Amino acid sequence: MTETLVPLDEALDRYDPVMGLEVHVELNTATKMFCGCSTTFGAPPNTQVCPVCLALPGALPVVNEKAVESAIRIGLALNCEIAELSRFARKNYFYPDMPKNFQTSQYDEPIAFDGYLDVEVDGETYRIEVERAHMEEDTGKATHVGGSTGRIHGADHSLIDYNRAGIPLIEIVTRTIEVPGDKAAAVARAYVSTLRDLVGGLGVSDVRMDQGSLRADVNLSLKPKGSDVLGTRSETKNVNSFRSVERAVKFEISRHAGILDAGGSVLQETRHFHEDTGTTSSGREKSDADDYRYFPEPDLAPVAPSREWVEELRTTLPEPPAARRARLQADWGFSDLDMRDTVGAGALELVVATIEAGTTPQAAKKWWLGELARRANETGVDLDALPITPQVVAQIQGLIDAGRVNDKLARQVFDGVLAGEGTPDEVVAGRGLEVVSDEGALGAAVDQAIADNPDVAQKIRDGKVAAAGALIGAVMKQMRGQADAARVRELVLEKLG
Ligand SMILES: [Zn+2]
Repeated sequence: MTETLVPLDEALDRYDPVMGLEVHVELNTATKMFCGCSTTFGAPPNTQVCPVCLALPGALPVVNEKAVESAIRIGLALNCEIAELSRFARKNYFYPDMPKNFQTSQYDEPIAFDGYLDVEVDGETYRIEVERAHMEEDTGKATHVGGSTGRIHGADHSLIDYNRAGIPLIEIVTRTIEVPGDKAAAVARAYVSTLRDLVGGLGVSDVRMDQGSLRADVNLSLKPKGSDVLGTRSETKNVNSFRSVERAVKFEISRHAGILDAGGSVLQETRHFHEDTGTTSSGREKSDADDYRYFPEPDLAPVAPSREWVEELRTTLPEPPAARRARLQADWGFSDLDMRDTVGAGALELVVATIEAGTTPQAAKKWWLGELARRANETGVDLDALPITPQVVAQIQGLIDAGRVNDKLARQVFDGVLAGEGTPDEVVAGRGLEVVSDEGALGAAVDQAIADNPDVAQKIRDGKVAAAGALIGAVMKQMRGQADAARVRELVLEKLG
């Protein structure tokens, strides 16, 4: 089926987007939601299972207290009310990676509800209302073998690993988000990114989008400008980077507009997002009337957290994001624009960690928002998915501070580290990048440059110090960039002063 895509700005001239975001956060508890099985990632298939998470007849679940605690802390951090009585419910449907044929989730009695999260885009704050945050369990993982797409259609056979079945999840659901159309994609991205930082700060999840411990579903519909009638929505599932959240919103706006312009009607369905093309494709049809026959889980007692416990947990919350940002900005001496750029790039936590590893705030910002942002953009990944850690960035800055490499050579050290050539020291040694600190060699190079450029040398002798740049350039060229430019400048001025 060919789709007519309407350019984004044209689509936004005629339609307003309405969004809803659902984010699943995998908790980092040691054991599963309803049994004592380990949650360690990467174990051989089906080695972390028991009668409860395999749903063998007669097995009885028990709620993981730590997971409830994490859920409450997430709810409080999102400014939610915490339910005095919250219940689990069975969501009935069949899927082979879900051995019970129902998912233990929460329905009309979630643990947390009616909250909000403020996000910042281009210096404006947008309040995203959170309808609910509820507890549920993950499914197992199916691997479809033999087809070209990795999906079940066309596969020869499927393998199922139940290690993941029963891992605790928190699903955070927003109310409808209506912001100016040209901000919608950026607001969606900022929401997921701010939520990631918030939940990460609580220490309750690894919040790695690239590893699936945080994943977003993007609901989107369009309504004609001036209309109050909501359009039919699509639901793009399991988007796994900030960048992809933004692209999915933009693509769906263009796609919906194409359908509506042609007088068609948008199909209510789930969609898959494709990282390589930035497009979505049809998943399965879904109607609001999908009946999961929810009913209260009879094997689990309601969760009734005491108010004392809730208040105790409230005291464990980290500093609220806005207050923390203001404090960091003051500590770092960043301008409003510096801070906005840092947050907007999704680099806040990376900059924090780089500073903690020993660099100055300016240096940390320079690398993450400059060189590394460019690399991330080129390769189409989020900053934190680059194969480099804040500690390594700090090490490279350390090489500069020690005078072992200059800025230009440092960029080559970044190249080497990102290409998997080892630690910064190994890259410097392997590529022979260390600056020449041999004064004799430097002096000779300066003498040579002076001899080659007598006119320039005379200008400097006459007091035109600004002309030194030409000689420094000549020396750097002769040393193939491997010299400390500041030291070269000193030598030039000494010799001609
Ligand atoms: Zn188990």
